[in-house]
Amino acid sequence: AVVVSIRCRKSSVSPRQLRLLGKTFRTAAVGREEYKAVCAVPIDAPLGAQPLEIVLADRRTVTRTLTVRKGDYGEEHLRLPAEMANPTSPAHLKQIKNDRRRLRRAYGSSAALIRFSHPFTMPLSSTIITPFGRRRYLNDIPKSPHGGIDLRGKTGTPVPAAAGGRVAFSGRLYYSGNAVIIDHGLDIFSLYLHLNSIAVAVGEQVKQGQIIGTVGSTGRVTGPHLHWGIKVNGIFVDPLEFIKESRLLLQPVGEE
Ligand SMILES: [Zn+2]
Repeated sequence: AVVVSIRCRKSSVSPRQLRLLGKTFRTAAVGREEYKAVCAVPIDAPLGAQPLEIVLADRRTVTRTLTVRKGDYGEEHLRLPAEMANPTSPAHLKQIKNDRRRLRRAYGSSAALIRFSHPFTMPLSSTIITPFGRRRYLNDIPKSPHGGIDLRGKTGTPVPAAAGGRVAFSGRLYYSGNAVIIDHGLDIFSLYLHLNSIAVAVGEQVKQGQIIGTVGSTGRVTGPHLHWGIKVNGIFVDPLEFIKESRLLLQPVGEE
């Protein structure tokens, strides 16, 4: 993810949205004549210089260049029972389809404002078992790259919210098990998956550090851990990088 800071003196040409690689990103007014946005590129994005378009209130666009660099995330092979790895039963497929619909609704709920006032923190300070972006093979079948980080944790360990926000999703999903998703504004969401128990409900405002559930091993997992993810406008980004970006997002334009 990358934080874009814009200073604009005339409100008639204030930046309304940003366009990058076919995606539209919202901007938030953060002060007098100051605007911020968080852009993200998917892990399989084309490399090199990419145009970043800033769409102004009068519909004109200003173009800047963003350079996408290659990341090296490695790969891993996992073994799981066949039905868990690649579900074929009608009941499971129906649930997975239903999960997608519920998640789409949850991710559609963000607004053009920043809902947190302190930079993100790691929910657990434990070892990272699986880093972000690792390409995974389940029973030798390639799956999407790891969309977050897996943090070591015993079942029942309390899980605090990484930053303030509003609970966008709270419930059980086929792959993710018991899941909590927090909306931090500007289409930034944090995900806490495979929980043993859930302590918050949809619509609830949570503070940074508030316990949202406990570590567990629900969903498609091989053992208890916390999967912590950050999604920006539909794109999973490296949570460790995002902690740094969240600091920039909260700093006044020009002082980052
Ligand atoms: Zn994970």
